[in-house]
Amino acid sequence: MKRSVLVIEDNEQNLYLVTFLLESRGYKVIAARDGVDGIAAANRDKPDLVLLDIQLPRMDGYTVAHLLRDNPNLTETPIIAVTSYAMAGDREKALEAGCNGYIEKPINPDTFITQIERHLDRISDDKEG
Ligand code: MN
Repeated sequence: MKRSVLVIEDNEQNLYLVTFLLESRGYKVIAARDGVDGIAAANRDKPDLVLLDIQLPRMDGYTVAHLLRDNPNLTETPIIAVTSYAMAGDREKALEAGCNGYIEKPINPDTFITQIERHLDRISDDKEG
């Protein structure tokens, strides 16, 4: 079965790039453009991984991460925050909010998939073991 990634991102250029990179590797991409829609999509589609922008309309990424972690159906779902390089405090706050890791903007197309799959592989290893 195709693995799915929920991308919660309000910047169209970033969303386009990330979608392109993930689809090129055979992932199914679910897109949400604000925090509220992101929560709804996570509940509906139960993605294998969530890629979470921090600065989002309607609800910021920290709040989204907290709410996903509080949902019993999603406690095991890896959440990767996408943080601004300039905002050093974002990373710690993202991890405190329940994210499993972070990727810095701008996205590096050469390393992006490796960074994502590190978290997906950890989950499938756990399931097999
Ligand atoms: Mn944003």
